[in-house]
Amino acid sequence: MSERRRKIVEAEPTEIYDVELEEDLLQANRDLAEENRRLLARCGVEAIDIMGCIGSGKTTLIHQLVGQLKGRRRIAVFKGDLTTTIDTDIIARHGVETVQINTGKECHLDANLVRKALAKIDLGSIDLLLIENVGNLICPADFQLGAEKRLVVISVTEGPYMVVKHSRIFMDADTVVINKLDLAEAMKVDADRLEEDVKHVNSNATVVKAICRDGVGINTVIESLGV
Ligand code: MG
Ligand code: ZN
Repeated sequence: MSERRRKIVEAEPTEIYDVELEEDLLQANRDLAEENRRLLARCGVEAIDIMGCIGSGKTTLIHQLVGQLKGRRRIAVFKGDLTTTIDTDIIARHGVETVQINTGKECHLDANLVRKALAKIDLGSIDLLLIENVGNLICPADFQLGAEKRLVVISVTEGPYMVVKHSRIFMDADTVVINKLDLAEAMKVDADRLEEDVKHVNSNATVVKAICRDGVGINTVIESLGV
């Protein structure tokens, strides 16, 4: 390999943040997530943490899931975003309960924000909670919310390296949706390759190729989540 290509700068953790602070923060979050998990279990509510970049199709997936499931499940949707209520307004049209969580400058939801949102709804009146995380494939991986299952949405329009560059978030995903399959050819992105990349880091994940906008693959997502 040429000298030029071998020049890689690897950040020492201490250069960019305080490791102990981070560990404390993550431990506190894990404890709160466990409390959320117990509360949800006690109330018989299944929760799904839905993660993915801005524009990957999280809201469209939730819109389709709610459309399919609202006749047989009692659903609430939490919607995390830095600002705006655009997505919540789309989902609220289904008549399901929604809670908007605006994080301000935070680029992920955490267990504490979810706990606050849980306090705003009657858990006895729902049995399925869909949580749309903030559009980001990095830190949501580290912040468990207390959801029973985790789903990651990526789309072929995000390019061929979404999985290999962000492999951490795929490691504990139960379901991975590869969205906008109809655009794969135009984007020159190989969806099978993306699937292989997911399987490489997490052989237990169910991978669903989908066109969420058109409802393609939604039933397979429902099956894979067991909801
Ligand atoms: Mg959205
Ligand atoms: Zn973040």
